[in-house]
Amino acid sequence: MTWSATILTLYPEMFPGPLGHSLAGRALGEGIWSLEAVQIRDFATDKHRSVDDTPAGGGAGMVMRADVLGRAVDDVLTRRPDAPLLAMTPRGRPLTQAFVRELAAGPGASILCGRFEGIDERLFEARPIVPVSIGDYVLSGGEMAALTLLDACIRLLPGVMGAPLSGEEESFESGLLEYPHYTRPQEWEGRTVPEELRSGNHAKIAAWRKARAIEDTRLRRPDLIARHGDARRQSPSGAQ
Ligand code: SAM
Repeated sequence: MTWSATILTLYPEMFPGPLGHSLAGRALGEGIWSLEAVQIRDFATDKHRSVDDTPAGGGAGMVMRADVLGRAVDDVLTRRPDAPLLAMTPRGRPLTQAFVRELAAGPGASILCGRFEGIDERLFEARPIVPVSIGDYVLSGGEMAALTLLDACIRLLPGVMGAPLSGEEESFESGLLEYPHYTRPQEWEGRTVPEELRSGNHAKIAAWRKARAIEDTRLRRPDLIARHGDARRQSPSGAQ
């Protein structure tokens, strides 16, 4: 079955953009996933096709109107009742690999892209929308965030990545960062590929990779180590 993405945006021409290339582009051509980009302005009713207005309470910038977005969202919810409706916003649920896996396992996603100062909050109260953030920084629009989310999902769809197992050992899948990679040449600028990886001994290689994954995560992302420990303590297999 095709994994279908519907994007609500003021810039439909930004899609598929980079997702028209490489793995995602090939998968799009093969029908593994499909894309529909909907122009939000088509749901405006005035002659200027306005989608935004000044913020209640004053302040800089403009806010996307709930009435216009409400019509756009209702159209998508009617046509795609099966797909979760997400809205990209820095105020949303953090996008994690576990969340990406959840989305990739479903029928697809409908994604609302914000612009300006963001979206009138009443839309989130009145419609079943999941706010999603791709990180603790502010982009100028939701389109790049939606492309990021889509890329993370698409590479997990069956038939997209070369080897079926690639992806399973990657960063965040086990709660840790992945171990580092090396390739030929065996020596470069006086630095050699670690002896363990050249040993041909699978158990030794696996042990080295596990130790490096833990060590690098401890150094670079101690927050993940704390969470990993908590998860292990809570799972029956992690109780030792
Ligand atoms: N005023 C908003 C705030 O401070 O939370 C930021 C608005 S931002 C300039 C415009 C749009 O970019 C947002 O409505 C959202 O769609 C998108 N955006 C920006 N940063 C994002 C992030 N970290 N994750 C997801 N979407 C983001």
